[in-house]
Amino acid sequence: MNRQIYLDNAATTKIADEVLDAMLPWLKEGYGNASSIYSFGNKSKVAIEESRDKIASYFGCKPKELFFTSGGSESDNWAIKGVAHKYKNKGNHLITTKIEHHAVLHTMAALEKEGFEVTYLDVDEEGFVNPKDVENAITDKTILVSIMFANNEIGTIEPIKEIGKICKDKGVLFHTDAVQAVGSIRINPDEYNIDLMSMSGHKIHAQKGIGILYVRTGVKLDNLIDGGNQERGKRAGTENVAGIVGYAKAFELAYENLEARNKKISALRDRLRDRILNEIEFSRLNGAKDDEKRLVNNLNICFKYIEGESLLLLLDDKGIMGSSGSACTSGSLDPSHVLLAIGLPHEIAHGSLRLTLSDETTEEDVDYVVESLREIVQRLRDMSPLYKNFIERK
Ligand SMILES: *Cc1c(COP(=O)(O)O)cnc(C)c1O
Repeated sequence: MNRQIYLDNAATTKIADEVLDAMLPWLKEGYGNASSIYSFGNKSKVAIEESRDKIASYFGCKPKELFFTSGGSESDNWAIKGVAHKYKNKGNHLITTKIEHHAVLHTMAALEKEGFEVTYLDVDEEGFVNPKDVENAITDKTILVSIMFANNEIGTIEPIKEIGKICKDKGVLFHTDAVQAVGSIRINPDEYNIDLMSMSGHKIHAQKGIGILYVRTGVKLDNLIDGGNQERGKRAGTENVAGIVGYAKAFELAYENLEARNKKISALRDRLRDRILNEIEFSRLNGAKDDEKRLVNNLNICFKYIEGESLLLLLDDKGIMGSSGSACTSGSLDPSHVLLAIGLPHEIAHGSLRLTLSDETTEEDVDYVVESLREIVQRLRDMSPLYKNFIERK
């Protein structure tokens, strides 16, 4: 069987044809260095600035508040380390959550080694941070709050507006990792009181290795990458012109047709969710139950008495690609830190499956996945001593 159903769009997405088409001229004939004086180089400069203007229009921000980086991880590192180092004389305390991406968690851990203190907030059983907890955690030593806009594993959308307001009122800078939210949610940083925001190209059908850090005018942060004068002296390195041009096209594709696409994807996600929960025994949904507070393309389900890795391998045999935990944690035997943080016991967290849809997912795909899952889950349970035990006791 050579059917291929890609349901791992939270890990990465397929580059859109329009994005690739927009990029190619800048990889072929338009290879000039944007810093050069001659007009050939200046064409690259113009393409970068036009892209920046266009992207800024989707966020209602100033173009000069957007800095191109190599991706979400760099943006997270830069925002957090940059603020911590800049403001260390003001205080040494940072606040984040237990369910952040490792690009945030490991950055925080690195700062702890330097002597910074970090508070890791708990979340509830659906993955929500309580804004009151943020407020209570802020001290006169707090210099930054970093809380993700939406979680990459369970799709929960955090109360960013409330958290942003608290930070603003308390005079503490607020960073959000919006890598998963961008492209399916319209985000105006002013409206949310966001000071710094991380984004990544390859999660919205642009290439891998391009990202953005939004930095509100007036917010200061130390450089992460020193060198040439690119990005107004704040982020050195010859610009990834093709990546930037393609990224602007990806934003256009995402935001020009956002509502219709969200509606289509969420309808398919709901069909997938409802069929699985109804047709497969001992399965349950992880993450936000309210659809308004969950990413439109995210489904995360636990199957009791199943091992996630085996499930993924058998799904792969059927051409279905999903993930258990996050792409970064699979390969290790530890269950996902996110699933543990929402209170799942180890053995149940192990039996979790994340399926993330895209615009290309069809109803036939969804039905094929359900049929395949039913068969695979039953096959794995028939081999499981735990399940046998459970059934006999029933
Ligand atoms: C993918 C992802 C990142 C990392 O982005 P890269 O561009 O792959 O470095 C960071 N945060 C979240 C929430 C992500 O999903």
